[in-house]
Amino acid sequence: MRGAVFLGNRKVELRTFPDPAPGPGEVVIEMKASGMCGSDLKFYRSPPGAAQAALGLGNSGEPFIGGHEPCGVVVARGPGVSEREAPDGQRVMDHHYAGCGTCPHCRLGWSQLCRAGITVYGVTAHGGHADYLKVPLRTLVALPEELSFAEGAAVACGTGTAYAALRRMRIAGGDTLAVFGQGPVGLSATMLGVAMGARVIAIDVGAERRQLGQEFGADAVIDPGGTDVVAALKALTDGEGVDAALDCSGHPDARLAAARATRTWGRVGFVGEGNQVTFDVSPDLLRRQLTLHASWTFSTLIQEECARFIVKRRVPLKRLLTHRFRLAQAAEAYRLFDTQTTGKGVFVFD
Ligand SMILES: [Zn+2]
Ligand SMILES: [Zn+2]
Repeated sequence: MRGAVFLGNRKVELRTFPDPAPGPGEVVIEMKASGMCGSDLKFYRSPPGAAQAALGLGNSGEPFIGGHEPCGVVVARGPGVSEREAPDGQRVMDHHYAGCGTCPHCRLGWSQLCRAGITVYGVTAHGGHADYLKVPLRTLVALPEELSFAEGAAVACGTGTAYAALRRMRIAGGDTLAVFGQGPVGLSATMLGVAMGARVIAIDVGAERRQLGQEFGADAVIDPGGTDVVAALKALTDGEGVDAALDCSGHPDARLAAARATRTWGRVGFVGEGNQVTFDVSPDLLRRQLTLHASWTFSTLIQEECARFIVKRRVPLKRLLTHRFRLAQAAEAYRLFDTQTTGKGVFVFD
């Protein structure tokens, strides 16, 4: 089979690998779609292994097939996996982590929190930018009939991450929600927040990204370049501040603005990876009784719930998928993603 490997320093190479054979408890997925996520850019841009180490995901130094938003159909089962558990042709997303499988975190479907050490497919083991992917049975999450494979790929990291954070923040009708950053995760948060009933204010320096945010239902947009974002958000909320703010940018200034623009008793969420932030703790946090949610992706059950929510609430996720590539275009696709960053790219397979 073919697989696209991140070699570091902006090099992606299509290599040939033996087709995977499933071991005990494992299945092989024939890939139908594999998304490009913001954190892939960190692996793409940095020297080999450096981004993995910086994100706290370990660093084996060995290059793996990239892609941690895998979606496809079951084509092979290993020993101990029954036809009932993973029928041939079953449409599945992959929850792209594996832990020990027996600790409370793993049994709750939060295997990425396993303290025995984790595998992250596409980061510390072969991922979805390939014709086939071998994973444990328990990582499979059913893809609803109503969703395309490309939409399933988006749910498998970026969109699912936005959903899980908004769920933690208990976003509901009546809330005004500020979303900092309108990349694939932020745009997902905008459309999901709207579907949850919130009035969404979308913030990004990119005019095209703000435009997309507006198309996905944002009530107002703000360009933080040369604007006092906190003042602008207060002006839009009778001087009180927003009920909830989610940072999807990972930018220190955005994180600080998210806290400062949130009203007393409000909720702040962080999903953007990397970087730092400095708070003036008393005025920025304590005096206003803020709740801060640090959110890393989602469990298998929340992944499934996110997919169902998108179907039930007719979330326009398809419109986020602006760029489709073939696997053979992997180098070109990441070159484009590195520089031109409006919407979301996904590899599709026949
Ligand atoms: Zn575990
Ligand atoms: Zn991701």
